[in-house]
Amino acid sequence: MESRDLKLIMTRRFLILLLASLLSPLGWAQDRPTVVVTFSVLEDFVARVAGEHAEIVSLTPRGAEVHEYELRPGDFRALEQAELVFYNGLELEQWMGQVRAVVGADVAVVSVAAESGVETLPIVSGDYRGQADPHAWMDPRRAGEYVVAIAGELSRVIPDRASTFRANAKAYREELDDLYREMADALDVIPPERRVLISSEAAFVYFAEAFDFLHDGIWGNNAESEGAPRQLMRIIDLIDQRRPPALFWESTVSSRTVESVSADTGVPYDGPLYVDSLGEVGTPAGSYRGMMRENVRVLRDALLDDG
Ligand SMILES: [Zn+2]
Repeated sequence: MESRDLKLIMTRRFLILLLASLLSPLGWAQDRPTVVVTFSVLEDFVARVAGEHAEIVSLTPRGAEVHEYELRPGDFRALEQAELVFYNGLELEQWMGQVRAVVGADVAVVSVAAESGVETLPIVSGDYRGQADPHAWMDPRRAGEYVVAIAGELSRVIPDRASTFRANAKAYREELDDLYREMADALDVIPPERRVLISSEAAFVYFAEAFDFLHDGIWGNNAESEGAPRQLMRIIDLIDQRRPPALFWESTVSSRTVESVSADTGVPYDGPLYVDSLGEVGTPAGSYRGMMRENVRVLRDALLDDG
């Protein structure tokens, strides 16, 4: 086909779309219910279950801090239109009071962790030690439980699509179970004594249980102060005892603290690892499966490397 023909077709398609949007002030996009999620990991899960049947708005931008986010002007509009809100829960989002103050009284605000009934593990260190750790999605099998819970809630709000949501959730859960096995196989080459994952935030509790790593962080949870002297002293002691091959930082925090711990201990650092946010759209970590595979790649490179 000549490029002139293609151009003509594209122009015609554009005109048809333009006409359609002018003739229909409530276009198809606006017929879809708005579903708001608090951060990009849930955006991935809800998008895979809802497909084209919902308009999904994620509040915390990719790469930004989810624990202590503050609503921006555009978020209020999305929340006012929301017919359903998904958040993680387990105290991940410290700002849910702001959300509840904006959404309509009849709108369900659903904690995916609570709704899924996922088995929780305790935070390993820091101010919140012993409380349920919020990062349950870091085990792909638990992420599958999230997906099933999301399908159930979407079906209550959009009942005529319930069978689609159920089928999408079932298919995605199978992909996540496959992802778990793929990751376990890929990480299997790291010898037991090198399976030490020390990160900035100790956010890999579920990941460490799923893939058999010893895990700790400079701080326990991003909701507490980051890089305080007592935190540094504690982790430097631990690093001196364990002598791990590498230290890690996460995409939503500054690498400054891990750099200084690395300088103090002589243990190199690597990253970023992805936990509290997907990577930007179109990058390898831009989807949930992509971010988990990126984590595997970074861990293998750093923990197997003898250089
Ligand atoms: Zn976190």
